[in-house]
Amino acid sequence: MNSLSTRVRLASGADLDGFRAAARRLAGADVVPEVVAWVAGDGDDLFGPASRKDGTAIEAGAPLMLPKGAADLIRLVVCHSDPERYALLYTLIWRLGRGQRGLLEIASDPLVHRLERMAKSVRRDLHKMHAYVRFRCIETAAGQRFVAWFEPDHFIVEATGSFFVDRFRGMDWAILTPKGSLHWDTQGLILGPPADRAQAPAGDDFEAHWLDYYASIFNPARLNPTAMRGHMAVKYWKNLPEAALIPRLIREAPQRVQAMIEREAPMPVHRNPDKAVAAMADQAPKSLDALNRLILASESPAPFSPRAVPGEGPLGATIALVGEQPGDQEDIAGRPFVGPAGQLLDHALAEAGIERREAYVTNAVKHFKFRQEDKRRIHQTPTTGEIKHYRWWLERELEFVRPKLVIALGATATAALAGKTVPVMKNRGPTDQFGQWRGFITVHPSSLLRQPDEAARDVAWLAFVRDLRQAVVLAA
Ligand code: URA
Repeated sequence: MNSLSTRVRLASGADLDGFRAAARRLAGADVVPEVVAWVAGDGDDLFGPASRKDGTAIEAGAPLMLPKGAADLIRLVVCHSDPERYALLYTLIWRLGRGQRGLLEIASDPLVHRLERMAKSVRRDLHKMHAYVRFRCIETAAGQRFVAWFEPDHFIVEATGSFFVDRFRGMDWAILTPKGSLHWDTQGLILGPPADRAQAPAGDDFEAHWLDYYASIFNPARLNPTAMRGHMAVKYWKNLPEAALIPRLIREAPQRVQAMIEREAPMPVHRNPDKAVAAMADQAPKSLDALNRLILASESPAPFSPRAVPGEGPLGATIALVGEQPGDQEDIAGRPFVGPAGQLLDHALAEAGIERREAYVTNAVKHFKFRQEDKRRIHQTPTTGEIKHYRWWLERELEFVRPKLVIALGATATAALAGKTVPVMKNRGPTDQFGQWRGFITVHPSSLLRQPDEAARDVAWLAFVRDLRQAVVLAA
């Protein structure tokens, strides 16, 4: 045992490499934890060798042989903001190497318990940062840049780098925090110094659309403010644009639920399809109106709503957008894309400079396919056979409209237009697989709702708008 006191300086924040190197040297030189003073963030001599107060250098140690789980625990705890983190970790390493190899399995050991709690807190902080970073777009001389402000509890900024690079690889972005910053220019990641809130933009156009969208997908019937707070700690709300809406949405929830119940209208009355179809059976419709009358009079197969929803928009529209099928709200309104996915589509079109009323908007399948669950009608994806069944309508419809470009929104529309299954993500972008039509394949706007977290949703949104912008260029 060595009684000389030892001072180790590490870089500010989470200096995993510095800690690892110092711990090796110290453990290799049999320096007991009690005599080591760990100093983080002195600013000088950051990666310098550990030294003893008597001036003798400590030899570099051999790699530490740690039991399973220890390396992960160390990697997390190093990020904790507790100034004692390195001392605690070195004590752990010391004990693991001195006859207590199974120490991590003793959850009641005060050191293990404390380190596990610290690791949990860092894990939670990482999760929150992944979920709650919100980028705002700024225009720079070099183009668009996306900047986010976030306030982590711990030194996790560097540890989140690969997550954000994977998600936002194609964007030029920066994440600023009081504990360091990340800067990605689509080529390389730079770890920058702590930043100030004033350096981050407060809002942008995208945010306004995001707020409308958030309000539109907020389901008052599922309101559970306690769960919301548990899920999204109130301290993060101040940096989340949508959080400003929450009190109002909560206040209005009871009236909105009542309105939803009142809107649960009885199923649309079945027209007399046989008569109408028989009258037109052997004459091809001569106009879009005639075609639509035929569609409206058509009978739907069993799990579909009896009400058909025709397309809408001007003849000769430059762009035709084809969705999957009407949803619950489209079925009630008798118009395509008026529900949550429609509102999202409207915002994205506006963002891409497309006037919805100048575009032709329709669906591959003309009736809403659903499964009844209590009062709710749950969307069902159409089968290949069903898509084929409706294909004739879509082809006729496009022949009347004669758009310059047909955009397929999602897999069903793509299959209907291509006449076969075509994977959307692999074929995303311009396509020549839509027969006589110049085509473009992109995702369905409702896929943005299914993203695993907010950050992924932001990326998906930006990619969707980018697609629409590209489509505008192609259609010109
Ligand atoms: N989803 C669609 O594909 N079409 C609509 O009209 C509404 C939602």
